[in-house]
Amino acid sequence: MIPTLADIYAAARRIRGVADGTPLVPSPFMRGHTGADFLLKLENMQPIGAFKLRGALNAVDGLGDVAGVTCCSTGNHGRGVAYAARASGLSAVICMSSLVPRAKVDGIRALGADVRIVGHSQDDAQAEVERLVAEEGLAEISPFDDARVICGQGTIGLEILAQRPDIETILVPLSGGGLAAGVALAAKSINPAIRVIGISMDRGAAMYESLRAGRPVAAEELPSLADSLGGGIGLDNRLSFPMCRDLLDETILVTEEQIYHAMQVLYFEDRIVAEGACVVGIAAVLAGKVTLDGPAATIVTGRNLDMDLFTQVITGQPVQLGDRLVAGQPYRRTA
Ligand SMILES: *Cc1c(COP(=O)(O)O)cnc(C)c1O
Repeated sequence: MIPTLADIYAAARRIRGVADGTPLVPSPFMRGHTGADFLLKLENMQPIGAFKLRGALNAVDGLGDVAGVTCCSTGNHGRGVAYAARASGLSAVICMSSLVPRAKVDGIRALGADVRIVGHSQDDAQAEVERLVAEEGLAEISPFDDARVICGQGTIGLEILAQRPDIETILVPLSGGGLAAGVALAAKSINPAIRVIGISMDRGAAMYESLRAGRPVAAEELPSLADSLGGGIGLDNRLSFPMCRDLLDETILVTEEQIYHAMQVLYFEDRIVAEGACVVGIAAVLAGKVTLDGPAATIVTGRNLDMDLFTQVITGQPVQLGDRLVAGQPYRRTA
């Protein structure tokens, strides 16, 4: 069942005081570049360092009597579920692929969850989740294809519009589409004229490819500076695919070089330490792939980076991503 605005308000009540109320701050640099107000919704300031706590809390709250919870994750959803499970006195098993950065694995273990590294893709990790559900009776919490998760993420849309009712465009990092679906549902229910654009990296963008194909399709999972945006959307996707199809105005791809540069921009201009996944909206604007003529906001979705990789980007070193080398150069202001 497709969720409604009322479900998102209910989620907002459930997460109140724990995962809500992050700041929405202006980026003077991006305003200078676009000529319009450009706001950053700082989900990197969440207790787990990423917005996924919203959806995880909303999903775990009210599960009732279960043996424990499990999920597959590119890192941040697992951390959210581990946090929410601990708060509810439940055990959590988080299944991830070997592509997940070490910093994220450590963060999840520190919350007391059982971490399983399975195979080299989200699909491999998902197979282990299905086994745990079937054989051990754990309750699965999908990272994106779950109404409770989508509504939790949608509370970001409510907050952005409450903080700045004049926002005309929201740029949303897009992977499995739980965030984009929830934010678009919230924002468009309040202001149908608002434009919501999903942005992904150009290698292995499963939702982008699926929207073009008109049905969920598999995408190859490749190392990316935006590692949180990796993974498929599930060939049996029931909610986040149709919601993204019906609610997003546009989807855009950016290159690893554009992500690299936008990470430098967010750091040097706004002094924000954030994952590659967070800057895809900024990258799309700086690359001229989106034009803005009114106030816009993007979501700085998380800060759980590998600090060695971040240091390479900030100091302008080349970065090796699998078989792909991102050349890189020291930051120079281009606006
Ligand atoms: C999960 C995640 C996203 C994408 O969210 P989806 O709901 O999968 O589209 C973006 N940024 C970060 C940091 C994430 O952890």
